[in-house]
Amino acid sequence: MSKHHSSKAEPDEIPASVNPHLQKRKRAHFSTEVYIQEILAQNRMMLSRAMTLVESKRLVDRQQARAIVEACLPHSGQSFRLGITGVPGVGKSTFIESFGLRLIEKGHKVAVLTVDPSSQLSKGSILGDKTRMAQLSVHQQAFIRPSPAGQSLGGVAAKTRELILLCEAAGFDFIIIETVGVGQSEVAVHALTDFFLLLLLPGAGDELQGIKRGVVEMADMIAVNKADGDRKLAAQKAKTAYQRALHLFPPKPSNWVAKAVICSALENEGIALIIENLTKYQEQTSKTAYFEKHRQKQAIHWFKQSLKESLLARFFDNDEFNTKMKLLEAEVGHGLISPQAAVEALMDKML
Ligand code: GDP
Repeated sequence: MSKHHSSKAEPDEIPASVNPHLQKRKRAHFSTEVYIQEILAQNRMMLSRAMTLVESKRLVDRQQARAIVEACLPHSGQSFRLGITGVPGVGKSTFIESFGLRLIEKGHKVAVLTVDPSSQLSKGSILGDKTRMAQLSVHQQAFIRPSPAGQSLGGVAAKTRELILLCEAAGFDFIIIETVGVGQSEVAVHALTDFFLLLLLPGAGDELQGIKRGVVEMADMIAVNKADGDRKLAAQKAKTAYQRALHLFPPKPSNWVAKAVICSALENEGIALIIENLTKYQEQTSKTAYFEKHRQKQAIHWFKQSLKESLLARFFDNDEFNTKMKLLEAEVGHGLISPQAAVEALMDKML
């Protein structure tokens, strides 16, 4: 065997006879072993392809994805996972660009994933604009992946968790999960991350910005962005008001006291202070073992979540179940059986 023999498998193209639709895409097929080996070797192209498998609707792809994620699991976890939210226009992409480049300067490898409920409506995503994060998106130490379209929020969030694990196995030690602050996806993102950063605008109150109180309460830090030029004073005032508001919430299980700060993503101001606080958070919560415990809890949360989804899918994919359900539905509608009794009848039949 030649010593130049490459460990990479030759792409095994999908045969043209299979399906004209697939033929068009001509997606190369690599063995699971090659995926794992290349991801661990920090091959970004293979990382990206593995992510496509995770997001695929084809059963064979998902089975392969599962095997890859399982193999990556022991190599994952060594990162800081940061959730960032804020309404469209608050400056998320400008912030992540500036923040991400600063992290890279400090020696980190940064992955940015998005959870975008708007992309489910196939109308395209609020976060998907290709011109976002121009410098970061071409940086060798960064990896940016938009949210997959056309899936339920629960589905996207569960898949995002797998994407996080893949990124970590590929050597990314700072993972940013970005979402639009409109109150749908924050809970899911909170359950995926170690720290939750809320970006707000100066001037308008959070209700005016469409931010729900629950989202403010979840925040480990509020950064009032666009604190530059004419808006600096308003940003200072907003910061003081938010600092006060944060004090009114009950203490967090992490014992971290949420802070409000100001920043200007555009002028790169206040970013260093935010990074300093994240380091402090990590030190503080590692000391008390909260960091690890919180991650364990999150893993259990996703286990239960996935279990529920799989169980539901099993039932609703079953013809017998659907037929029986339709019958019972009619009976419930006509008052022939109570909803609870109908559920029990259905459960008895299925289990
Ligand atoms: P996103 O929709 O939350 O991702 O927001 P963008 O990052 O796309 O920013 C929306 C607009 O606000 C753009 O025109 C940015 O240039 C501008 N912007 C973002 N951050 C700042 C900032 O710190 N100061 C100022 N003055 N403008 C900013």
